[in-house]
Amino acid sequence: MKELLQVDNIKKSFEIKKRLFKSAIEICVIDGVSFKISKKQIFGLIGESGCGKTTIGRLVTKLIEPSSGKMFFNNKNISEMNKNETKEFRKKIGMIFQDPYESLNPRFTIINSVKEPLDIDGRMTKQEKFDCVKNIFKKIGLDTTEYFLNKYPHELSGGQRQRISIARSLIMKPKLIIADEPCSMLDVSIRSDIMNIILKFKQELEMSAIYITHDLSEAKYITDFVAVMYLGKIVETGQTQDIIDDPYHPYTKMLISAIPDIISKFKINISEKIPDPMNIPHGCAFHPRCPYAKEICKRIEPENVNVGEGHLVKCHLF
Ligand code: SF4
Repeated sequence: MKELLQVDNIKKSFEIKKRLFKSAIEICVIDGVSFKISKKQIFGLIGESGCGKTTIGRLVTKLIEPSSGKMFFNNKNISEMNKNETKEFRKKIGMIFQDPYESLNPRFTIINSVKEPLDIDGRMTKQEKFDCVKNIFKKIGLDTTEYFLNKYPHELSGGQRQRISIARSLIMKPKLIIADEPCSMLDVSIRSDIMNIILKFKQELEMSAIYITHDLSEAKYITDFVAVMYLGKIVETGQTQDIIDDPYHPYTKMLISAIPDIISKFKINISEKIPDPMNIPHGCAFHPRCPYAKEICKRIEPENVNVGEGHLVKCHLF
């Protein structure tokens, strides 16, 4: 297997209690998701809030375990890793969060935050760690003066904080980055800078990435492949350019119609009301919102159909 990451038919359910003294009910947030990521590939997970994109990121990083299905990293089953293997695996994975405050301890100076993974690893001398941080700051376009290194997160702008968060996630030279909506809290003017940093390190570290976003224009800029998710399932996947140029699924068309440049090409009117995840519609879960829904869509869930080279779509129209 030449893939860096292979995800096979994973499902994830959570038990929740709706009311006190009532028995818990199970909700399935990820339902049979499969995909592969090769080396130096950026794979986009696209969809509205609540579709399960972030849960996939948490499953892949082993923060939570799947209810069923398998995931392999460099041919090794992630769920079967022992304690030492998990420790080594985590060094090869970097996380970039939507809100950089999540990954930066407000009581740590930025140098202490960024070098913390090196401290835990324990293999470098104090000077080597200092040089390593300065080196990555230079590449990311951050100030390397002692004055700046000793600042605290609250003294920085949102863009600087996100760069620091990226520096921390890259300090161990990971092989896979999970970037969870890294630009959604930033000004439009600095979004492309953040994406360019990820692209630069993709080349330099020969790294792959899962780029989670609700914004197809970001996916268009940075990803090689995308999977469009709706209520826990992948409904369309393929090369990014193919999906943007020639989308098949009505939901993908709806997301594309939100990109201002191509709004006229795929304008499609769909209700904005997302179904309750605790009460997912039968058949095609998208049918209550879909203007093309037929009788069969309410009863039978569509299977994957190959509509082009590696371009798969789940819709009864095809
Ligand atoms: Fe619409 Fe039916 Fe296709 Fe679902 S399967 S997207 S309801 S046409």
